Amino acid sequence: MKKYIFNFKSKVSNKINFSKNILGGKGANLSEMGRMGLPVPPGFTISTEVCELFYKNKKKINYKILGEIDKELKNIEKDTGKKFGDLNNPLLVSVRSGARVSMPGMMDTILNLGLNDETVHALANRTSNMRFAKDSYRRFIQMYSNVVLGVENYNFEELIENYKLTKGVLLDTELDENDWDGLIKDFKNIVKKKTNKEFPQNVREQLFGAISAVFLSWESHRAKVYRKLNQIPSEWGTAVNVQSMVFGNMGNDCATGVVFTRNPSNGNHQIYGEYLINAQGEDVVAGTRTPQHITKKARIASNESLPSMEESMPIAYKELKKILHKLEKHYKDMQDVEFTIENKKLWMLQTRSGKRTAKSAVKIAVDMVKENLISKKEAVLRVEPNSLDTLLHPTLDEKSNIEIIAKGLPASPGAASGKVVFTSDDAERLNASMQNTILVRVETSPEDIHGMHAAKGILTARGGMTSHAAVVARGMGRPCVSGSSEIEIDYEKKLFKVQDREIKEGDLITIDGSTGRIILGEVKTVKPEISGEFSKLMNWADNYRKLKIRTNSETPLDSKIARDFGAEGIGLCRTEHMFFDEERILSVREMILSKTKDDRLLALSKLLPHQKKDFIDIFKIMNGLPVTVRLLDPPLHEFLPRTDKEISEVASSLNIPIKELKVRITELHEQNPMLGHRGCRLGISFPEIYEMQCRAIFEALVQCKKQKVKSIIPEIMIPLVSTEAEIKIMKDLVIRTAKQVESEKKIKLNFLVGTMIELPRAAIKANDIAKHAEFFSFGTNDLTQTTFGISRDDSGKFLNDYIENKIFDIDPFVSIDEGVADLIDIASEKGRSQNKKIKLGICGEHGGDPKSIEFCAKIGLNYVSCSPYRVPVARLAAAQAQLKK
Ligand code: PEP
Ligand code: MG
Repeated sequence: MKKYIFNFKSKVSNKINFSKNILGGKGANLSEMGRMGLPVPPGFTISTEVCELFYKNKKKINYKILGEIDKELKNIEKDTGKKFGDLNNPLLVSVRSGARVSMPGMMDTILNLGLNDETVHALANRTSNMRFAKDSYRRFIQMYSNVVLGVENYNFEELIENYKLTKGVLLDTELDENDWDGLIKDFKNIVKKKTNKEFPQNVREQLFGAISAVFLSWESHRAKVYRKLNQIPSEWGTAVNVQSMVFGNMGNDCATGVVFTRNPSNGNHQIYGEYLINAQGEDVVAGTRTPQHITKKARIASNESLPSMEESMPIAYKELKKILHKLEKHYKDMQDVEFTIENKKLWMLQTRSGKRTAKSAVKIAVDMVKENLISKKEAVLRVEPNSLDTLLHPTLDEKSNIEIIAKGLPASPGAASGKVVFTSDDAERLNASMQNTILVRVETSPEDIHGMHAAKGILTARGGMTSHAAVVARGMGRPCVSGSSEIEIDYEKKLFKVQDREIKEGDLITIDGSTGRIILGEVKTVKPEISGEFSKLMNWADNYRKLKIRTNSETPLDSKIARDFGAEGIGLCRTEHMFFDEERILSVREMILSKTKDDRLLALSKLLPHQKKDFIDIFKIMNGLPVTVRLLDPPLHEFLPRTDKEISEVASSLNIPIKELKVRITELHEQNPMLGHRGCRLGISFPEIYEMQCRAIFEALVQCKKQKVKSIIPEIMIPLVSTEAEIKIMKDLVIRTAKQVESEKKIKLNFLVGTMIELPRAAIKANDIAKHAEFFSFGTNDLTQTTFGISRDDSGKFLNDYIENKIFDIDPFVSIDEGVADLIDIASEKGRSQNKKIKLGICGEHGGDPKSIEFCAKIGLNYVSCSPYRVPVARLAAAQAQLKK
């Protein structure tokens, strides 16, 4: 029979990735640690393939596999000297999920399994610690009933809270064995009431119930949402790890903790983590008690009085430190480790590559090259290009008026402002109507994943730096301030109190996840500082990539930002954006609405100096780099006056009656403007518009030459071409205008003429179009729209249904679809076969998407062009694409 169950001591393969596919990340790393000789409690992994079998077998575990599990359980019994369900020395196990990639908090875990009304006494005798045994049993009932039997957790929490209130104590640790005994009875009664069954006493039944529940949690709502956000295929399934328990809650020489080998927020090479004395597993991450620091240095830096682990458990701390070093050397990456100390003995429960902020990822990658742990190539491949986004985003403008109302932990960097909401559903609802929110929760749980994604920032009243909120927010790149004990949340009244103030739902606040500040109102932000490590990594990336990176920009400010981020030219200057300026819009409206060519020429002559000045400014900033200027593209109705005030303004300047103007406006209305009178169709109908634009470009060139600005060769781009005749007519227009300017100014002009390929016909007939084009730029926004016949403006309404029904893995307007990719491939081939020297690039939104960039590199485009803030993302993605080739 094929092997489905693997003892931690057995090896699946030498290749860690293959092992991870079978054993899941957690299982693969546990067995790796076991073989490295680290103290790992004995256990086994049920492979991810069983998850698939489970679903095929009507959500039941096949009996042969049940037999295998029994066999492996015997091996744990042998290794620990304990027995499952034994009344003398009972073995307790944990049952945990473990997918190929870590999905923090998304799936289920059950601890202390194997306890029942009898084994609990055996455990008490064995450990001479009745309180511990009872505490473990009540935890088990609570977890098992919640995860396996579906009894909601608040039922149990409420009982504990009431109990503490009656007893007049604050902390769980103040409850003794008799208290837990009473609560165990109450817990079991709740289970009976809610499920009509007794809490299971048979330990095998408990085990198989727990394993099934872990498999079922793979298809839970929150796991599905997480998979969708992180593009994790549903076929992967999860493995299940069954491991003998070690206890961090047996007394004050016990503890449990989470530690990173380096700081996951800023990348500093220092152990970073938290621990709790006399506590178990989830207590640290759940945020129910605020944990203490691992190192003395961190404790002093944060002005805490409770001792660090380094101070309270020096021997275990030293051993932990040694192990962390060994793990980093072995995995050559920053590790996120869970450990438990049972009666002074250290046990390793998990290691995995640690989630980190972009800032930290960059620093760690660069530092590890310096430390000779990894090569420069590896460093470039280590950083997720999309994550740079968070690094490049603005931070709070410290010069603006900042009214700090409270502070919390700086859990995930970045600043965000928004309206206060108290539920994830509200965050999602407001996000749908484009409103920014800050999700304020006592603590977050995995059920909040959709709200955390929808909100601009997250604020919690409880929980440390490794709490659910902190870990998930960092992964998502959402700013987060956690554990702000100064705020008191009242969910009922939808407000939180801070000092003597009440902040209500809908009030504006700002959080600064880099410093932990909570600020009243909205605060201005400033451009981010780029660190030395960032520039270093970018320079390494530049050495590997072949694709050039340009930017889509039409303002001097954006062009400057893009240059600072390393743009090597402009790939798309959308000239219509230069028309929207308040000063110019009236002339644009006059131009559109004028009845005669003379009127139109008059309006155009007013626009010419503005366009010319814009081009001069941009050419200066680009200082010799290529600039692709696209002639007017959008349907004219986008510029029409709408309000009565605007209409009367245009009527008076055109000197026509309002009524007549309104008729003209109605005439210009289109049923389907995206497929209407736009792009080169405007140039065909009103050549004077394009002539004015070309003149502005050429006169700007002349001016720059006079001012001794480094000369640039503009690339004049014709939009929405689908036939050879269109590009030919337009090219003639450009050349004609150039000749006029050349003879007027007595100067020779250098420029290229090319086209966007953004319609399927253009792609298919690219060889004909290439006869008249010196470059192609793929306009993948329109090309996606017209290939699918899906409106780029309306797709939001139904795209989600398409993703949910697995028709699309990902929005095709974000990442290039295969069919669109084929059209690009065909057009590139045909273009090159006609004109060997043709320049090829992409300027749709996909130009900033790492997956699409990989495709562009594969088919040998010359450049990608994207928005300024995506330029570093594209530089890194282009390097990775080359290295993966
Ligand atoms: C495109 O269609 O991909 C493109 C870049 O042009 P626009 O988005 O301006 O239509
Ligand atoms: Mg377009």
